[in-house]
Amino acid sequence: MSDSNRLRIAIQKSGRLSDDSIALLKAIGVKLQIRDRLLIAHATNLPIDLLRVRDDDIPGLVMDGVVDLGFIGENELEEKMLERKASGKKFEFKTLRRLDYGGCRLSIAVPNEFDYKGVQSLEGKKVATTYPFLLERFFKENNVNASAVMLTGSVEVAPRAGVAHAICDLVSTGATLEANGLREEEEIFQSKAVLIQRAGELPEAKAQLINRFLPRIDGVMQAKESKYIMLHAPKTYLEQVKSLLPGSGNPTVLPLAGSDDTVAVHVVSSETLFWETMEKLKALGCSSILVMPIEKMMG
Ligand code: ATP
Ligand code: MG
Repeated sequence: MSDSNRLRIAIQKSGRLSDDSIALLKAIGVKLQIRDRLLIAHATNLPIDLLRVRDDDIPGLVMDGVVDLGFIGENELEEKMLERKASGKKFEFKTLRRLDYGGCRLSIAVPNEFDYKGVQSLEGKKVATTYPFLLERFFKENNVNASAVMLTGSVEVAPRAGVAHAICDLVSTGATLEANGLREEEEIFQSKAVLIQRAGELPEAKAQLINRFLPRIDGVMQAKESKYIMLHAPKTYLEQVKSLLPGSGNPTVLPLAGSDDTVAVHVVSSETLFWETMEKLKALGCSSILVMPIEKMMG
């Protein structure tokens, strides 16, 4: 067993959530040395150990209190919760943050030639999925008698292989469905990555570390959505210029050296500046219009 004073975080070893989870940890100031084959990675600047596992294992590790935190897709989390509920195991945890990556939806798709007229078309049918509990909940909520066929991989080929009439799988662009001659019909769950914490009290030092991280996570997410906009504007049109700047608070207006009728306007905006708006600003006489990404933010 490793040192229990170190914060233990479970992340997906390799897959769709790994890179973004590691990038987020780095962005909030955790320095990591990850060796590809190792299960455990240590932070070099903080008392943190990363447990690198299959994503299927993460909800259980948190719910059993084996790790303190976990980065996981809501789809896996909800499925595991329903599974544990059904078998009477404990499924407590706390969701600390919903994150801005790992977005996807769990959808039912049918072969193109399937004459689909709504959920009732699934009556008596077999639907292949990796998420039987979420799928069965959907059937129950919609009063459909259909059965979930559990497959851990290659779900999209199940109808062609004669294993099922339809599938229920994760979709982000829909390209995989299309490539397999399938059509998305029902969205049953929307998912993003979340940061979860085990139930129960954490030792003071760990709790403090987490309390320092949460505002940093908020800052990183906010920064990604925000832009720093700078431009030179004619003083006479300042009000019109301000009204064109998107989703912004009060801009900073600064004098420009050697110019009485032009000012510099700086603003942090929660949206980007579209080309059309930049053209309007230019038409008002603005110049040197810059839109820049923001790396970090704090209230
Ligand atoms: P593991 O080997 O860790 O079990 P996996 O094959 O189960 O990996 P991935 O395909 O890496 O899982 O997906 C991990 C998570 O990424 C999904 O559970 C989901 O939350 C999220 N995700 C985002 N977009 C997609 C997508 N288009 N398809 C599948 N998962 C997606
Ligand atoms: Mg998995």
